Amino acid sequence: MSRIVIAIGGNAILNPARGSPIEQQKMIEETCREIARIIQRGYDVVLTHGNGPQIGNILAMQEECALVHPQPLDVCGAETQGMLGYSLQQSLDNRLRESGITKQVVTVLTQVVVDASCSSFNNPTKPVGIYYPEPRAHEMMAQGIRMIHDKKGYRRVVASPEPLRIVEEDIIKKLVALGVIVIAGGGGGIPVIRKNGSLSGVEAVIDKDLTGSLLASAVSAETFLILTDVEKAALNYGTDNQVDLDDITVSEAQRYIEEGHFGKGSMEPKILAALRFIKSGGKTSIISSLNKALPALLGTAGTRIIA
Ligand code: ADP
Ligand code: MG
Repeated sequence: MSRIVIAIGGNAILNPARGSPIEQQKMIEETCREIARIIQRGYDVVLTHGNGPQIGNILAMQEECALVHPQPLDVCGAETQGMLGYSLQQSLDNRLRESGITKQVVTVLTQVVVDASCSSFNNPTKPVGIYYPEPRAHEMMAQGIRMIHDKKGYRRVVASPEPLRIVEEDIIKKLVALGVIVIAGGGGGIPVIRKNGSLSGVEAVIDKDLTGSLLASAVSAETFLILTDVEKAALNYGTDNQVDLDDITVSEAQRYIEEGHFGKGSMEPKILAALRFIKSGGKTSIISSLNKALPALLGTAGTRIIA
């Protein structure tokens, strides 16, 4: 049976502008319907997901509520794994039952060891969450919160170190071998460092696409499928000369990265993650949209990166 790791985009399951829990639930239901179809086709599926908008909302709630102490970022990441893991686990279980499939679904709270010497700790550049009005942003910066200013306004930035190893890798592999559908590495995993043998959380978020490629290699997947809100990666994205990509080789992908075709922090980490998976022995990486997941696996949608 062909094993695939599916990475579901945080933005694809919650549009930060519209972003109600009802909307998120609806999108999760649609996603799980699609994933159930893939499982019905006989694929052996492992899931991971992003958390950008969700962790942003938790941070915004904390910042606006002076009555309670804010939680550190690793704990906020763990909260999003629980929240999204719960919704995905329940919704996928419902869809599988409807289809008469008896597989069990389980979320593994996942820690990921990061590189403590990663330069991103000294120079955080990963924007998270909502845009803040200028006066509020100045107050926050005065409290020591790092922010950047772009075309749309002020946003908080955090460190996004390289993922090195999934702490719960062995148990994930055992569950997968038992035929359990595992949801793991949500939001890129809870960032931790190991010092003198013990783990502790750090103030950071990890890119979920990069952790997804680690997960895909760890479970010896054949295919790594990254689902987002665009059907294909493109050259000259957003211009009149936009060219959507179908099949590309590793060397073409590398060249397009060097030429700067992919958005930093959005499409670029997907292409990098896709490449890493292939380089560590994977067969195919695919980038596609949620509603085109099955056609992408069957080869009629999405951008495929092949060895
Ligand atoms: P996710 O939550 O799925 O990780 P992201 O917003 O991080 O979503 O990444 C998907 C976004 O990448 C798309 O919505 C698109 O606007 C952007 N993007 C940047 N560069 C490209 C490109 N070259 N081709 C396609 N999409 C791109
Ligand atoms: Mg992203």
